[in-house]
Amino acid sequence: MIEVDVAIVGAGPYGLAAASHVGRLGLSTAVIGEPMWFWRRCMPAGMHLRSPNVASDISDPENRFSLAAYEAARGEPVPSPLPIDRFIDYGLWVQRQVAPGVDSRRVVQIDYHRGRFRLALADGAEMTAAQVVVAAGIAPFAARPEEFDQLPPELASHSSDHSDLSVLAGRTVAVVGAGQSALESAALLHEAGCEVEVLARAPRVFFLRRQPWMHKLGPLTRLMFAPAEVGPAGLSKLVALPGWYRRLPRVLQDRFAVRSLRPAGAAWLIPRLRDVPISTGVVVTGVKRMKGAVRLTLNDDSRRHVDHVLLATGFRVEIGRYAFLPEDLLRLVNRIDGYPRLSRTFESSVPGLYFLGAPAAWSFGPLMRFVAGTEWAAQTLARGVEDRARVLHQ
Ligand SMILES: Cc1cc2nc3c(=O)[nH]c(=O)nc-3n(C[C@H](O)[C@H](O)[C@H](O)COP(=O)(O)OP(=O)(O)OC[C@H]3O[C@@H](n4cnc5c(N)ncnc54)[C@H](O)[C@@H]3O)c2cc1C
Repeated sequence: MIEVDVAIVGAGPYGLAAASHVGRLGLSTAVIGEPMWFWRRCMPAGMHLRSPNVASDISDPENRFSLAAYEAARGEPVPSPLPIDRFIDYGLWVQRQVAPGVDSRRVVQIDYHRGRFRLALADGAEMTAAQVVVAAGIAPFAARPEEFDQLPPELASHSSDHSDLSVLAGRTVAVVGAGQSALESAALLHEAGCEVEVLARAPRVFFLRRQPWMHKLGPLTRLMFAPAEVGPAGLSKLVALPGWYRRLPRVLQDRFAVRSLRPAGAAWLIPRLRDVPISTGVVVTGVKRMKGAVRLTLNDDSRRHVDHVLLATGFRVEIGRYAFLPEDLLRLVNRIDGYPRLSRTFESSVPGLYFLGAPAAWSFGPLMRFVAGTEWAAQTLARGVEDRARVLHQ
């Protein structure tokens, strides 16, 4: 049985950042998970990051593994917007530096007994840890409107089911959604020769950076926008300070989160969507399976006959969907709306159990849903892990 001080579940941006910050505490640490799995399996080839490059560093304590350092090491410039394959390559490069011994087995269960955690791995092996950091991402949280449940995967799929949209080439596809994923998927499908229509519930589709002049005001721009650009002018500065954000009255935190995460596409998608019809203010009210196709009825009583429906309908955090968290452990985790309620150092109500990434967004705000949040999160987490280790060793 392997015994470690800290087990980090997940080797995406948050798990890797945690590995580098916790790694220098002198504790024995295991990082478990397939590196950059979500980016390799659940996002489409050809995609580009919506985040600016300056907000796409996977944090490490000495800033040795930033995107700029990767660019220098590779000896070729990193394009902007950043293509997904380059970001994956960057993530794997970071992993080789900060977690060379990553264990790519899946964690199937985490049990908690007498202040220690026991992790069962997919091949039957076991590990024990004094502290566990869950950085397992959002894959299990894919939100699928239930009216599509009756359809088999060949007729309706979630955007995260795809790593290559060209499997739908030549087909008629309705894309449901209005965010970056919906709009970029529609562009990629159109370019793959599909007949595509975007069906958006929102009354209009928003594109970011519609007012480029706002981003060319030098110091004034820096006063209004944090580099991550999560949220509109002004708000983006607040979102970039999760420690302050969490002190706001709850009602403001919730309101600002909705505003900062409003579905929108990057401006560079606009020319690529010129020939893609986008219907706004429409809701699918009826779904009928036809022979090898789907008939959709919309709230304006119009109908669409399509070969496939792509649900770019986002993700809803519900940590109860992490299959590796059994009911008796979940019962001990103080939760609200599916999120764990976390301490100042990302610790849940179970001592020594931490959550990073999107599940931390209720406690620390929208930045936690983005790679840009890895710096603050991993630094803060490491302080908590160090303090808890001190208590445990007393
Ligand atoms: C289409 C799309 C586009 C996006 N674009 C951007 C963007 O431009 N900029 C941005 O900042 N964010 C973007 N995001 C959000 C992005 O997903 C997060 O910023 C980022 O992935 C968070 O990192 P993470 O480490 O929390 O999760 P993930 O990257 O999902 O990593 C989780 C890791 O956990 C591992 N894991 C899960 N379960 C287990 C288990 N049981 N056992 C072992 N390991 C496990 C997986 O192997 C995976 O490597 C986008 C999301 C989507 C869906």
